[in-house]
Amino acid sequence: MPRKNLILVISTRKFIAIFLYAILTAAAPASAMQAELSAAELFPGDAFSLKISGMASTETATAAIDAIQIPLTGCGEDCLIGIGIIPPQTLPGKMAIQIRNGSRLTRVSVTVKKPAYPELHLKLPDKKVSLSQEDIARVVEEEKRLRPIWQITNEKLCKGTFQMPLPNPISTVYGAKRIFNKKNVSVHRGIDIKGRSGEEVKASNRGRVVLSEELFFGGNTLIIDHGLGIYTIYMHLDSFSTSVGRMVEKGQIIGLVGTTGRSTGPHLHFGLKILTFNANPVSIMGISLE
Ligand SMILES: [Zn+2]
Repeated sequence: MPRKNLILVISTRKFIAIFLYAILTAAAPASAMQAELSAAELFPGDAFSLKISGMASTETATAAIDAIQIPLTGCGEDCLIGIGIIPPQTLPGKMAIQIRNGSRLTRVSVTVKKPAYPELHLKLPDKKVSLSQEDIARVVEEEKRLRPIWQITNEKLCKGTFQMPLPNPISTVYGAKRIFNKKNVSVHRGIDIKGRSGEEVKASNRGRVVLSEELFFGGNTLIIDHGLGIYTIYMHLDSFSTSVGRMVEKGQIIGLVGTTGRSTGPHLHFGLKILTFNANPVSIMGISLE
C-alpha cells in the first residue's frame, strides 16, 4: 500500500473512533447533569443552596466547597439539594464547588465579594469584659461542652424556607467588630434583632431542640438542629418555652426576649451554624431544601 493511502486509512479509523465516542458520551445521562446555585455572588459567611439534577445515579453524587463536604438530600426524582457555606475567613475572589457523580466531575464557580464590616464601641460593666479566672474556666468549659453539638447528619428536619425569629429591625449585623470598654475586641458571629423584654421568639424552621441552658456570654441560650449540619441559635432569652429533645415547628414560640448573659439591653442574638461554621443568618432567609 502506498504511504499516502496508509495515512488515509489510519485517519479514517481514528475519525470513526472519535465519532463513536462522541455519540456514546452524548447518550450518557451524566452529560445532562445540571447544578443550580441560589446565588452566583456571595459574601464570606453566606449560606447558599446547591441543587443537582440530571444524574446517572443520585446515590454516587457528592458535593464539596474547599474540601468541605455539603450533605445532600433528595428533592424529587433525579434531584439532590444541600446547603453550603462560604467559610467566614474566605478572601475575595473565585471559588469552585466540586460535584462528583461516579467518575464524572463538574465545577460550579462562585464569586466571593469583599465585605465591609462596621466597627462598634460598646460599654459594659467591667466584670463582663475583663473576666475572672473563674469566669474564664466557665467559658472554656462551656465551649468544650458545646463542641459535640455541631453534628453533620444526613437527617433532614427543616421544612420549607427559614424565617426571622422576631419581626423587628437588626441592630447589629453579622461580622461587626465590637470593641468593649475600649480594650476587648470581638467579632459578631450572628445578628442582633431589636426586641422588647417578654416579646415572643419563634423557631426559624422546624427542628429538634439540642440545647436550652444558661451560658456565660449567651445567657439563656437555645439551639435548634435542623439537620444536614444546619443549626439556629437564640441568645439572651428571658425564659424558654420548650426544652432539649423536643421537636419544634417553624414559627412555634420557643422563648421570650430578655437581656441575660453579656448583653447591653433586651434584644435577641440570632445565630446560624452551617457545617460547623458561623454563618450570616440573613443569608439563609428564602432558602429551602425542597
Ligand atoms: Zn449579638
